[in-house]
Amino acid sequence: MTEVSNREVASKLLLLSELLEITGDNVFKIRAFYRAADIIDRINNPVALMSEKDLILVPGIGPAIAKKVREIGKTGTCNELEELRAKVPPSLVELLNLEGVGPKTIAVLWKKLNVQGIGDLEKAAEGHRIRSLKGFGEKKEQGFLRSIALYRAAGGRMDRVEAESVINKLSGAFTPGTWVVAGSYRRGKSSIGDIDIVTTESASVINPKLKNRVDEVIDEGERRTSVRVLGHRVDIRFTHEHQLGSMLIYLTGSKEFNIRLREIAIESGRKVNEYGVQERADGKIHEFSNEQDMFAFLGLQTIIPELRENQGEIELAKNYQLPQLVGPTDIRGDLHVHSDWSDGSLTLEQLAVNGETHGYDYILCSDHSATLGITHGLDEEKLQRQSHEIERVNRMGGTCTLLHGTEVDILVNGSLGLPDDALSELDLVIASVHTSLKEDRDSMTRRVIMAVENENVDIIGHPTGRLLGKRPSFEIDLSRIIDRAKETGTSLECNASPWRLDLDDTDIRHSKEKGVPISIGTDTHHEDEFSHMRYGVTIAQRGWCSAKDILNSLTLQELLDWAS
Ligand SMILES: [Zn+2]
Ligand SMILES: [Zn+2]
Repeated sequence: MTEVSNREVASKLLLLSELLEITGDNVFKIRAFYRAADIIDRINNPVALMSEKDLILVPGIGPAIAKKVREIGKTGTCNELEELRAKVPPSLVELLNLEGVGPKTIAVLWKKLNVQGIGDLEKAAEGHRIRSLKGFGEKKEQGFLRSIALYRAAGGRMDRVEAESVINKLSGAFTPGTWVVAGSYRRGKSSIGDIDIVTTESASVINPKLKNRVDEVIDEGERRTSVRVLGHRVDIRFTHEHQLGSMLIYLTGSKEFNIRLREIAIESGRKVNEYGVQERADGKIHEFSNEQDMFAFLGLQTIIPELRENQGEIELAKNYQLPQLVGPTDIRGDLHVHSDWSDGSLTLEQLAVNGETHGYDYILCSDHSATLGITHGLDEEKLQRQSHEIERVNRMGGTCTLLHGTEVDILVNGSLGLPDDALSELDLVIASVHTSLKEDRDSMTRRVIMAVENENVDIIGHPTGRLLGKRPSFEIDLSRIIDRAKETGTSLECNASPWRLDLDDTDIRHSKEKGVPISIGTDTHHEDEFSHMRYGVTIAQRGWCSAKDILNSLTLQELLDWAS
């Protein structure tokens, strides 16, 4: 049996706390569970393997919680959680997905207005029944309606991590090497609607193997089968090895790309479809087992999936002038990482060790500044102590240098969460907006531009503040920020967290074309998140970046020179 990870134990405890809060349990008990979830999420030893005695030694974990942790570690859940789940309607729990709706709010809505789900909440808000509740106002009512609209707009779309869990669920049905995920997933988009899979195995082999891996078979056929997996639609196309190239091009898209490709073929008297390229004169079909051969036949340089959007790449491919894009091996370091000095789970030594594992020359330790609203931030004095500690780790002689930085808050008035003389001591400074997210466009833009203009700030972190499917970008005039960043030599971040991917491809391309360096950072808080660098690199490729456009393709010395 695979061990239950700390992340899973913590998420069960968190859900338990939320359900307890919704049902109105004892406040102290609820707080203790929240706290335990937070602690377990941040410690490294697998709690599932610890005895009750050892668990109690962890500060913040008492006997009652230790028992729960053991139960979850053994069975993946616990009795109390299952009982609560039976009591609270799932549609009520779904409300937790709405931005700005927490368990406490849900408890009130449920008790006072008998709101049992998103539809009920919408009706209550539209009927102005919410503003009459104590502690709720007209503003909150409007806020609920906005959150609902946003949640629905994202409806069904997956981030890349969700898409990968869908794909993993099906992967066992195919023989390795006989299938490829196509569509927008293959093009590297930050969010994905449906998943398309192309396989050279036959329908008669695959269809029976799908049954116990899917929620539902929508439509089963010889050429195509559609299923639903974890709530998402997956289309599987069956093809033959000698036609795989054209099928892949066809199903990878995008639609605009395919249209342009068809036009090019027509110019030379040919037709393109998923089975190959057909001569219009005699109807002869040329078949292609791989994409490169088909591109070459059409007189084109091979275009990587990430660029297939008909944004000028086809014209360049005609002249064999496509740019050499940044790749994973160009990345020499991670420029956004948190340690256990703020809200991360890894010690400074562990950051350095992980840097070595990933073959990095450097890692930027960029913990939060101490500002109201953010827990576990560092003030000047603590930053000073961290600096000594980082020196000590670097003296231990590893191959990955820890750079000392911070992710300092951009406050509502545009000033920063740490004084200039503290910032000037650091190797690199990221400045990010974390609070007062609902400022109007002009204020927000001015606020970020003030940070861009601060000579100690090197990078603007997650510049639009979006959380995929949960929170839209701030109201902000990005083109003004890009222009100013160019003038001050400030870098804009491509935050590689799959839940952010901020900036996204189009904005990255605009920045790059203006000459603004892009910094890719994973925003790692936990060990497994270092690997998110790959999402950032993919988005940078979609933004047409070469290695020279990326800050963290510089050598350590070049980077330090750039920053000084
Ligand atoms: Zn941040
Ligand atoms: Zn961060």
